[in-house]
Amino acid sequence: MDRIYELKMCYDIIIIGAGPGGLTAGIYARSRMMKTLIIEAGRVGGQLISLYPEKGIHNYPGFESVQARKLSDRLYAQAESLGCDIHDNEKVNEVLDGDEELIVNTSKSQYHAKSVIVAIGMGNFNPKKMCIPGEAELTDKGVTYILPVKEGLVGRKVVLFGGGNSAIEMALISDTVTDTAIVHRKPEFRADECNVDALKHSNVRTVMNTAAVSFNGSGKLESVTLNRNGETYDVPADLAVVNIGIDADLEVLKKWDLKLTEDGRVVVDLDMSTSRNGIFACGDVVDYDGKNKLIITACGEAATASQSAYKFVKKPYWA
Ligand SMILES: Cc1cc2nc3c(=O)[nH]c(=O)nc-3n(C[C@H](O)[C@H](O)[C@H](O)COP(=O)(O)OP(=O)(O)OC[C@H]3O[C@@H](n4cnc5c(N)ncnc54)[C@H](O)[C@@H]3O)c2cc1C
Repeated sequence: MDRIYELKMCYDIIIIGAGPGGLTAGIYARSRMMKTLIIEAGRVGGQLISLYPEKGIHNYPGFESVQARKLSDRLYAQAESLGCDIHDNEKVNEVLDGDEELIVNTSKSQYHAKSVIVAIGMGNFNPKKMCIPGEAELTDKGVTYILPVKEGLVGRKVVLFGGGNSAIEMALISDTVTDTAIVHRKPEFRADECNVDALKHSNVRTVMNTAAVSFNGSGKLESVTLNRNGETYDVPADLAVVNIGIDADLEVLKKWDLKLTEDGRVVVDLDMSTSRNGIFACGDVVDYDGKNKLIITACGEAATASQSAYKFVKKPYWA
């Protein structure tokens, strides 16, 4: 769309973040024919595309199992085909009060909207690093934080680091095509029983109570040094996948003048309204007692947030 036209236009709704929450909010907004813009700081798809594209999702209703990349692609295609304007690689910095509308300032432009939905998930997020020798030098040269597509694993010696569901699920995917080990520094995994059970019945080698000491190789990863009970030893590896958590940064929220919880997440009412008039929120960025950070939760809250924004903007006599 022509940027000059966009600048003059006042959207009914601007959605910040294009993860499952933001995309679903867009889908529901368009079913009400609201002029909708979704602004995404990185890649459309949120955590699904940026953190675990190869992982299977087994708890999204309607699919026994669906690859995260595919679910994200479908949400994207649905939001786009229904008429949402979607901008990627554009970060929202400020949401200001205008005379009669909200003003959204981004890294690229300024937009006006009658309502806003904040769906920024974990904010700016990056996989946690191990901070051991060799990691920085060999990143993308055999050390990675996201499991490559299966074809890229064939014939490689893969060592995964981590003890949660995500690390185990990556190990199980890798195991279907190549030699795979998983290293965890604790005596037990911290994961769903079904994943631990699947691991037991796979060919993945599990290495417990063991810490990574260094990644080794000149120009590309050749081995990893491990430490178990004070003894160090080398294991040959040409792909190390680190999956030990996420560093999330929600600092940007502090500038948006929203009421936040102690750990910096957005406080909402039952209709997903925030402390600021015309601003709603949904997904991982929102917190309340009993909150379960899942795709389906983000989508459910998005439907409510979108409906509330619709009522706020259009004020239908019947709603
Ligand atoms: C490894 C892993 C595996 C998981 N597996 C599952 C699973 O199997 N099933 C399940 O239900 N859940 C799973 N989850 C949880 C699920 O991914 C989240 O609950 C879900 O992604 C939340 O969606 P969201 O739209 O709220 O946020 P996100 O997916 O985080 O999307 C938010 C988007 O907002 C963007 N953004 C942030 N700041 C700005 C800004 N200032 N301006 C513009 N855009 C911004 C981000 O770049 C991001 O794309 C998993 C999570 C992880 C980390």
